[in-house]
Amino acid sequence: MHETGIARNILRIATESVLEHEGPGARLASVEVRVGLLSGVDANALSFAFGALAEGDSEIWTDLDAPPTIPTKGARLLVIPSIPSLRCEACGANDTPDTLTWSCPECASPRIRLEGGRELEITALEVEHDPRQHQN
Ligand SMILES: [Zn+2]
Repeated sequence: MHETGIARNILRIATESVLEHEGPGARLASVEVRVGLLSGVDANALSFAFGALAEGDSEIWTDLDAPPTIPTKGARLLVIPSIPSLRCEACGANDTPDTLTWSCPECASPRIRLEGGRELEITALEVEHDPRQHQN
């Protein structure tokens, strides 16, 4: 599944960042990602894969040379859907619709151009510290 590879990358980037900035006493609590609605990524499948990886499902991690070096058990993935902005080539309307649409909300023309909505990026990390491992 395509989403498993993406989830693995997200988890790897997140844990490396936490380790670098917070040290080994930290654990990953949640990762927020912006997923464009045109990115082709299934948010439900991505969340499912992330959850399995964060729980340490060894079957999914077996082909990894370096599994996470900080605890991720129970970490959540928060998916923020990103809707593309729309420009109509018939009437010139610019809009940022609330839901993905394939026609102009002003004149109903299908001659629209969608911009953005293809991104997949980590926008926030939440970290928890193990109280038994005080630092500094
Ligand atoms: Zn229009």
